Amino acid sequence: MRLEELEREVERCKKCPLWRTRKKPVFGEGPPDAKIMLIGLGPGYHENLEGRPFVGAAGKLLDRLLELAGVERSKVYITNIVKCYLPENRVTREEVEACTPYLDKQIEIIQPKVIVTLGNVATEYIFGKLGIKLEPISRIHGKVFKASTLILQVTVIPMYHPAAALRNPGLRSVVEEDWRRIRDVLLEVS
Ligand code: URA
Ligand code: SF4
Repeated sequence: MRLEELEREVERCKKCPLWRTRKKPVFGEGPPDAKIMLIGLGPGYHENLEGRPFVGAAGKLLDRLLELAGVERSKVYITNIVKCYLPENRVTREEVEACTPYLDKQIEIIQPKVIVTLGNVATEYIFGKLGIKLEPISRIHGKVFKASTLILQVTVIPMYHPAAALRNPGLRSVVEEDWRRIRDVLLEVS
């Protein structure tokens, strides 16, 4: 299956109640052969209107963080755990279960070398899927993990969600330092 077909499926999807409040689903964007994949939580207000990931305030910070890491945004694939608007910026387990088969397929198709998870939900999901032992994000943020499955050999880097740094200004320099430090890892694959 190709990404375009999968995107058409998401546009019609009603597998969880979030379809009711979506304007535009946010499937994800970036080159289908991207070496680096970023996974956030789900669309916010601006993403819902534009149908693109990370275009609001958290997106502006993400752009800056990508700069610190020395990668061009247009070279990475960016998506989320769930594809429809999260009015409360929270997900239920049922929503994650309903939507992540799409993410699984995106990963299968793109076969990224590096997955950067943004925030707790994405980190938990990817660590669980790849059988990496989960620890609190406060302990593992910015660290580099390796995993391999039958179809994928991948480096996983869990990061604080950019929105966390906006809510908690004390975290800002920590987050920036994390992204600066992964520059070499990202450079190697891009
Ligand atoms: N926050 C996310 O997790 N994803 C987006 O696409 C935008 C904000
Ligand atoms: Fe379907 Fe995912 Fe949207 Fe729920 S969030 S309706 S599972 S695309």
